[in-house]
Amino acid sequence: MGLDYSYEMIAAEAFGGIRCGGVPMAIGVQTNMATPALARFGSDYVRDSFLAPAIAGEQVACIGVSEPGAGSDVSGIKTTAIKDGDDYIINGSKMWITNATQADFICLLANTSDEPAHKNKSLIIVPTDTAGISFSDKLDKLGMRSSDTAQIFFDNVRVPQRNLIGHEGAGFVMQMQQFQEERLYIAAMSLKSMEICINETLTYTRERQAFGKPLLANQSILFRLAELQTEVELLRALTYQACEQYVQGEDVTRLASMAKLKSGRLSREVSDACLQYWGGMGFM
Ligand SMILES: Cc1cc2nc3c(=O)[nH]c(=O)nc-3n(C[C@H](O)[C@H](O)[C@H](O)COP(=O)(O)OP(=O)(O)OC[C@H]3O[C@@H](n4cnc5c(N)ncnc54)[C@H](O)[C@@H]3O)c2cc1C
Repeated sequence: MGLDYSYEMIAAEAFGGIRCGGVPMAIGVQTNMATPALARFGSDYVRDSFLAPAIAGEQVACIGVSEPGAGSDVSGIKTTAIKDGDDYIINGSKMWITNATQADFICLLANTSDEPAHKNKSLIIVPTDTAGISFSDKLDKLGMRSSDTAQIFFDNVRVPQRNLIGHEGAGFVMQMQQFQEERLYIAAMSLKSMEICINETLTYTRERQAFGKPLLANQSILFRLAELQTEVELLRALTYQACEQYVQGEDVTRLASMAKLKSGRLSREVSDACLQYWGGMGFM
């Protein structure tokens, strides 16, 4: 459609209005986490075979980066993809993979050589119906339970080398770039849910009477809610600025990382602070 990234930000912000985290996260994995590298670096074959059906909603994508022994430290992944004829043979496992149990393909980060850790990785598309792939049961999570998360195992999984995204050895850098969109999506998504939380707390404290007057008649509560809303607006400004620069083709790793950091912290602060004003009802 030729729309720029700001349209994705608008969608992400709107998805934040869904009253559960799992659904927008599952959608975001499809749109902003598992597919940006295909759009940016994929060959015509990769884009026609995997990206186009993902955009059309015909195929579900997941992103396979984390492993049991490597989460924050992406460079430490152990899964390998070794060349054999025209194929790669993949061995290893991936952990905590969103959409795993329903995905049609995995955008997989694997080691394709013995070069240093930041130069030996490649992104490869792996269809989930390929022989040798198996999945754990859905992991039993603390939250986001409507989004499935599972472990994926690769036992001599053979995929054609034409499923490679971009250049061999460029996978780490491409994945770091792919994370930019993930971070922006998460930051934008969090805005609306925090606003809902603050607004509903305003409504509740306006109605709830204590000591002969509405809770909200106590200025200390108004001060706190106003401060939280101010923080949300600051995060919005940061997120929009990062988005604007991204649309202009700039590297926004720094701003996008700041926005994601702040959105995580602020989401916890807003929900905890607001919950207090609901008293016992907050525990119901
Ligand atoms: C619901 C959910 C969905 C997920 N979906 C996906 C997915 O679709 N695809 C995917 O690839 N991954 C996914 N993940 C995995 C996620 O990306 C990792 O959990 C995350 O990267 C952190 O890795 P880890 O859990 O191994 O934590 P660790 O790397 O073990 O880190 C544990 C803690 O130590 C801190 N820490 C680490 N290193 C340092 C350091 N040097 N100094 C100080 N502190 C440090 C971390 O910040 C963290 O707080 C998902 C996780 C969850 C919970």
